[in-house]
Amino acid sequence: MWDGIIVGGGLAGLLAGIRAAERGKRILMISEGVGSLTYSSGVIDFGNVAQLVRQDKHPYALLGESIVRNGADYFQAHFPDYHGKWREVQTVLTPLGSPRKAGFIPNGLNAQVLHDAHLIVLMAPEGMKDFFPKVTKANLERAYPQCVVKVHPFRLDAFESWHTLGKPVNGMDYTKYWRSASGTGALKGVVNSLNQELDEARSDPADPGKSVVVFPGLASAFSNSIKEVLSDLPFPVVEMTAFPPSASGHKLYDALKETFGALGGELMVGTGVKQVEIQGKRCHKIIVKSKGKDSEFSARSFVLATGGVFGGGIEVTPEASKEMVFGLPLYVPDEWTNSEFLGDQPYARIGIEVDRELRPIDSKLNEVILENVQVIGRMIAHWDPWVEHCGGGVSLASGWFAGETM
Ligand SMILES: Cc1cc2nc3c(=O)[nH]c(=O)nc-3n(C[C@H](O)[C@H](O)[C@H](O)COP(=O)(O)OP(=O)(O)OC[C@H]3O[C@@H](n4cnc5c(N)ncnc54)[C@H](O)[C@@H]3O)c2cc1C
Repeated sequence: MWDGIIVGGGLAGLLAGIRAAERGKRILMISEGVGSLTYSSGVIDFGNVAQLVRQDKHPYALLGESIVRNGADYFQAHFPDYHGKWREVQTVLTPLGSPRKAGFIPNGLNAQVLHDAHLIVLMAPEGMKDFFPKVTKANLERAYPQCVVKVHPFRLDAFESWHTLGKPVNGMDYTKYWRSASGTGALKGVVNSLNQELDEARSDPADPGKSVVVFPGLASAFSNSIKEVLSDLPFPVVEMTAFPPSASGHKLYDALKETFGALGGELMVGTGVKQVEIQGKRCHKIIVKSKGKDSEFSARSFVLATGGVFGGGIEVTPEASKEMVFGLPLYVPDEWTNSEFLGDQPYARIGIEVDRELRPIDSKLNEVILENVQVIGRMIAHWDPWVEHCGGGVSLASGWFAGETM
């Protein structure tokens, strides 16, 4: 028998698994896919914690500020490649070069230094998919009007055959290449040529200011070789976030998975739950379909971390909405959408209502439905990651709490 089974291996599930495994629990994680981190920029936003802890039914209000903070501190202690201070915001560049506020950010993304720059050199890997140097340059000029922005195109031999075949090269391909032995050498070549150019600019009396290089598709977090190349440079490099698939999000996912495995956690990816066995108010067993056959797993406690509508944990059809593992009742707002495109969209708040222990409740009867099941991350009702900017924060807080208490 397992101490705990976590269904869903995204940010929330993995953090819960890491904390529980670290506490000496035998944890099995069952996940159909890799989770939404691989689409996201890898940035962890917390939103306005002071305000959200006072917002009726919000996960932060149920957990309280100290638990939100514990989740954040715990994450940062395990992943020092993430920078940021509790309740302080930082600036990162969007994939189009506009600055935006963020909570914890991967190494290399801090764009604060651009405020003091006079020259921005925008690195432009030729033919990189979903990177638009002209738009990015215009946005940088708008955001940092004190700066001259120069575009520095470059082309790599490694992708010549891709260009010839018309095969797109995206940011992930560049990141993978920079991390290889030959890629690290090529990166040194690219930045050293830039070094000479910037030396000339610095010696120009008309341009005495600080030069900063903006680099898309780099993702130095979790890569000692890239960090080493960058640390030797006499100018700061600011990395950009990327459109999905995002290298930074992928690298965080890999790091979480590795940490969970290193602590003895068992992860089955590509496996969905077929059935659960419930007696009274407790779940005893989970049946999964794996490699064409059914396998049964028993545990003392269970965590549901299946990512809401986006993650696949909630199926929405025109007729009904359904929680896919335990068949738990869902909070579904009366009004589904808001005609204001960028406004608060009620459907984002769909999810399972929980008590302060994160157990699913029947809110009409005010009763816990399953005593040994906790619900975390996007599966919890009454919050909106897009409007409240707290997607990563809720996953860390609820994931940490489940890992601490399961
Ligand atoms: C495009 C995008 C951009 C984002 N950008 C940001 C950002 O900039 N800042 C920020 O803070 N947050 C951002 N977020 C939100 C943040 O990434 C999510 O809130 C958070 O990752 C949700 O984590 P989760 O673990 O709850 O769900 P998920 O990451 O979705 O993980 C759910 C997991 O459950 C698995 N699963 C689903 N159903 C089953 C089943 N029946 N059986 C087994 N496994 C199952 C899925 O395969 C998946 O692995 C973004 C999200 C998206 C989608």
